[in-house]
Amino acid sequence: MEKRINEFLTKQYGHDLDNCSNEELFDALMTITKEEMANKPDVPGDKKLYYISAEFLIGKLLSNNLINLGLYDEINEVLKKHDKEIADVEEIEPEPSLGNGGLGRLAACFLDSIASLNLPGDGVGLNYHYGLFKQKFKDHLQQEVKNPWITKESWLNKREDIHFQVPFRRFTVTSTLYDIDVPGYETGTKNRLHLFDLDSVDDTIVGDDTIDFDKTDIEKNMTLFLYPDDSDDNGRLLRIYQQYFMVSNAAQLILKEAKDKGYDLHKLDQHVAVQINDTHPSMVIPELIRLLQNEGFTMNEAIDVVTKTCAYTNHTILAEALETWPMNYMEAVVPHLLPIIRELDNRLRETVKDESTYIIDKENRVHMAHMDIHYGHSVNGVAKLHTDILKDTELHNFYELYPEKFNNKTNGITFRRWLVHCNPELTKFIESLIGPGFKKDAMELEKLMAFVDDEAVLNRLGEIKADNKKVLADYFKKMQNVDIDPNSIFDVQVKRLHEYKRQQMNCLYAIHKYLEIKSGKKPETPITMIFGAKAAPAYIIAKDIIHLILCLQELTASDPEVAPYFRVVMAENYNVTYAGKIIPAAEISEQISLASKEASGTSNMKFMLNGAVTLGTEDGANVEIHQLVGDENIYIFGEDADTVVKLYAEAGYHPATFMADESIAELVNFIVGDELMAIGKKENLERLHHELITKDWFMTLLDIKDYIKTKDQVYVDYADRKAWNRKVLINIAKAGYFSSDRTIDQYNKEIWKLK
Ligand SMILES: *Cc1c(COP(=O)(O)O)cnc(C)c1O
Repeated sequence: MEKRINEFLTKQYGHDLDNCSNEELFDALMTITKEEMANKPDVPGDKKLYYISAEFLIGKLLSNNLINLGLYDEINEVLKKHDKEIADVEEIEPEPSLGNGGLGRLAACFLDSIASLNLPGDGVGLNYHYGLFKQKFKDHLQQEVKNPWITKESWLNKREDIHFQVPFRRFTVTSTLYDIDVPGYETGTKNRLHLFDLDSVDDTIVGDDTIDFDKTDIEKNMTLFLYPDDSDDNGRLLRIYQQYFMVSNAAQLILKEAKDKGYDLHKLDQHVAVQINDTHPSMVIPELIRLLQNEGFTMNEAIDVVTKTCAYTNHTILAEALETWPMNYMEAVVPHLLPIIRELDNRLRETVKDESTYIIDKENRVHMAHMDIHYGHSVNGVAKLHTDILKDTELHNFYELYPEKFNNKTNGITFRRWLVHCNPELTKFIESLIGPGFKKDAMELEKLMAFVDDEAVLNRLGEIKADNKKVLADYFKKMQNVDIDPNSIFDVQVKRLHEYKRQQMNCLYAIHKYLEIKSGKKPETPITMIFGAKAAPAYIIAKDIIHLILCLQELTASDPEVAPYFRVVMAENYNVTYAGKIIPAAEISEQISLASKEASGTSNMKFMLNGAVTLGTEDGANVEIHQLVGDENIYIFGEDADTVVKLYAEAGYHPATFMADESIAELVNFIVGDELMAIGKKENLERLHHELITKDWFMTLLDIKDYIKTKDQVYVDYADRKAWNRKVLINIAKAGYFSSDRTIDQYNKEIWKLK
């Protein structure tokens, strides 16, 4: 390998391993890794999965590809010999931002697990040139700038052999396909991520340091951004263009590959499984039907085989996320789908009484999820509680019609990235205790329970955490010039900024702690509260919450009475790379969504695996974490999902009731008090304050008291390090269930049945 790297460097740059730059070394390693992957055969099989998703939050790929190819240790040795660090080389790699958060990261973890279980299955999505915006902080506010991640040399392989014609009302475009190879972990095979694009897209219509562009020039802008702002008509139309472009290409690719292999399209369901990841790819159903009709199928035949092929995953019960598109918008973009959608709807009207399940509603809007449920063979939620809520309330009418279609697939994460790569020290230690088997069979982590009272083991876990905290503190200093005390408790909430996730509640706790310290009560161990979150550019209140966090960061850092004991800090541009550094250093995992609102969560699993203890509500997969680790090893607080669902049904929650409590009012009113007003902007702080006291749709004040009480207890318990590290060990030992290998095995056995 050393020779191969040197040969590349010499030929390409006239340097060798001793005098090359990290940029040159990255190019060498990427090129060699790509060659290795190109030489691997595809996963073989007679039935293949197409996982269609608007998002694949894959993160940097160099290290994970090397790990899966079994080359990581060898390359690491070679670099060390020449005084180079693989971590420094990784810094060079741009992070593709092809997803928002959990949903997109799940798709990326799934691709890794599908390949690692040696199952034939490819991802299909779009090649966004700028993806999700890059976040910058200025004047305590979020700014959005474009994130150009596609460099001259990249993981993308252009497929000169594959182009499809995609028809729209006003024009027809020709697509270009880029593939990214997805190697399985020590399988010797690979799958692919197919990202469709358009040659006419023009990166230059977006200025520097902005994300603004002309939304009407579709041929130039179609694949520029992930989820363009849909707060106006042109933004909404662009989303329909993107979605149809994605699914028409997916459908054409599926049929091309089936024909190339000589399959009988009438038996498509025996050779192809399609997973629809949330509703963004839903139009693949009418598009497949349309294309099969072009192949001579009758409507009946086409509907039958497409229904048996397609399956749908629901990711949220938040009403605003269940997509509906007005018929006239679809008419303006894809008129050729409307006769099919109308026919699908008419068939229901003849056989199904319950009007609430129809695809086209009285306002002439198309309900994407309804189409998926009627004309797919499976509907799954992403955690036990979430699936139960779908069956009992949100999709109850559909459950009555098709109880056999509903099933649960609790989310998971790939341990190759979220343990082996991001936490090598912990990985090595676990391996020294129980052997390497857990990397292939995550349930083997349970063997760690043998060490639950082994003081040396518990101490070592504490040392590893301390090392990771130092690394993170250095990274904060380097990236943001922010000082954090590696000896403080790292209490972490990193995830998209959304009111239901309740970062605002964590802020109220920070205010509580600040006031407590100002009144003379100092914490036993210093505390660092770490936030990381991007807010959607048009989500005003979410951006106000970021403003509050950044004001609290300044308040705590600039007050000499407080700073030695308590800091609030916020990571700028939280992404997969940052997650890989923050999570191994975390001690408390904040999972404090309003019960019933977080479908699953996956960062809760990453934290647990890396030895953080969860402080959370009985929501999403927290419920299953709680069951696995037991009451002693998790901190649960707040009202449960049943109570919350009832409160919504009865419109029974009023923040004013809670503002009558002086101790709560003091915290909330601090947001518009002198200290923060002196740092922040009146408009933003007042708007957030007003929202909390008049609406508080996600019931922050309902749970704040129990939250403060419970979190105070967590900090107290932390001081007994032996008891704490026992909790840490049990969390790691019980995390095996949350491997996405388990999730994918269940999808395959119960939905896809790949062979
Ligand atoms: C895992 C992950 C998420 C999902 O976090 P949740 O807390 O489950 O919402 C979001 N963003 C990134 C970068 C992640 O790695």
